[in-house]
Amino acid sequence: MQKRVMLKISGEQLGSEEYNFDINYAKRVAAILRALQDKGYAVACVMGGGNIIRGKKLSENGFTNKVIADQMGMLATIQNGLFLAETLKQDDVKGVYLFSNLAIESLTERFSYKRADSKLANGNIVLIAGGTGKPGFTTDTGVVIQAFELHCPYVIKTTKVDGVYSKDPAKDPNATRYTTLSYDEVAINKDIQVMDRAALAFAADKDITVGICQPTPEDVLALLDGDTSHGTLVSNA
Ligand code: UDP
Repeated sequence: MQKRVMLKISGEQLGSEEYNFDINYAKRVAAILRALQDKGYAVACVMGGGNIIRGKKLSENGFTNKVIADQMGMLATIQNGLFLAETLKQDDVKGVYLFSNLAIESLTERFSYKRADSKLANGNIVLIAGGTGKPGFTTDTGVVIQAFELHCPYVIKTTKVDGVYSKDPAKDPNATRYTTLSYDEVAINKDIQVMDRAALAFAADKDITVGICQPTPEDVLALLDGDTSHGTLVSNA
């Protein structure tokens, strides 16, 4: 049985302070994807957009139409998809297919279960942009929905810190890192930030395990092997 994994590529994994689209950041993602392929994983990725725009932030700034703000956010994820797909090709990563859940056929193929599932089955890398295709969500929800649809038991979300902490480690020096967490624990403790609540509820219901670690091939592979020395696993266990 083919091992499948779904990665969340947040906007911050692609954009630096200097460049909205930073080739060196994309190369870091490429190294992870290549390492996963080498270990025999079929890899799918859901693209974030936060390096360009988040709907919520635009609304907080006084833009009143939340639907349009989210549409702009979904378009940002498509820009990231185009950017990552092309830089992966430039980096000689073979068999990269970009799909979008938002109709934008002149730029990229519309997501379809059959097409994406068969691309994965043939060992290709599948990138999915356009979020869920609907406003009112974030790509956290997009990634767990796509993990379910593409038969991926694991979602890996890479972040600046090496896992999930009891408090924000950037603000609280006493924050401690969890190695494992259950969805029940996460649901009752508002200080624990893993993903947004809608995404967590869906992942729990579909029994998808979410892993959080830093964006290095070693940490991602270790977490998938159950080694939580540099990451956190969130599951129903
Ligand atoms: N978005 C949306 N529907 C979706 C997914 C995303 O409307 O299903 C919009 C939303 O405005 C979100 C933005 O796209 O803020 C970018 O996604 P996200 O904030 O998840 O990006 P990330 O933080 O992962 O970079």
